[in-house]
Amino acid sequence: MKNKAIELLNSVSLRRTGPRLAILEALLNADAPLTQDQIADAIGDSAPNKTTIYRTLTHLVETGLVHEAFLENRSQHYELAHHCGKQCCHPHFTCRQCEQTHCLTGVSTPLVELPKGFSIQRQQIHIDGVCPDCRTRNKTKEIGQI
Ligand SMILES: [Zn+2]
Ligand SMILES: [Zn+2]
Ligand SMILES: [Zn+2]
Repeated sequence: MKNKAIELLNSVSLRRTGPRLAILEALLNADAPLTQDQIADAIGDSAPNKTTIYRTLTHLVETGLVHEAFLENRSQHYELAHHCGKQCCHPHFTCRQCEQTHCLTGVSTPLVELPKGFSIQRQQIHIDGVCPDCRTRNKTKEIGQI
């Protein structure tokens, strides 16, 4: 994943620094958006301090490499922007039973038609629901009760 992280930095002409590479690698390895704390956990012992992670993330967001995917429990969740369109991010689905979030990269969401005078910067959709695993578990439980 290191080469891919270097490639990403090169694509926006950003200098390679330890924190940038470490954060991009953590996001490359993740299959759902991560909070700052989860990024620190993923990097492990060599993780930069909180302030450095925050500043680096802010910088990566400014360059467009990283998106702020959604806010949950007052924590911003970050992910790489490579599965997002120019104005439209892929939707996220958070299961209210297991609290897992899924990136619905295969689901296309047409831009909403805005009233006159409004201009869009980015459309992001965050869906609450129950995931397939939990639904199956619920069904098995119901059958068990009968
Ligand atoms: Zn996005
Ligand atoms: Zn679930
Ligand atoms: Zn996502």
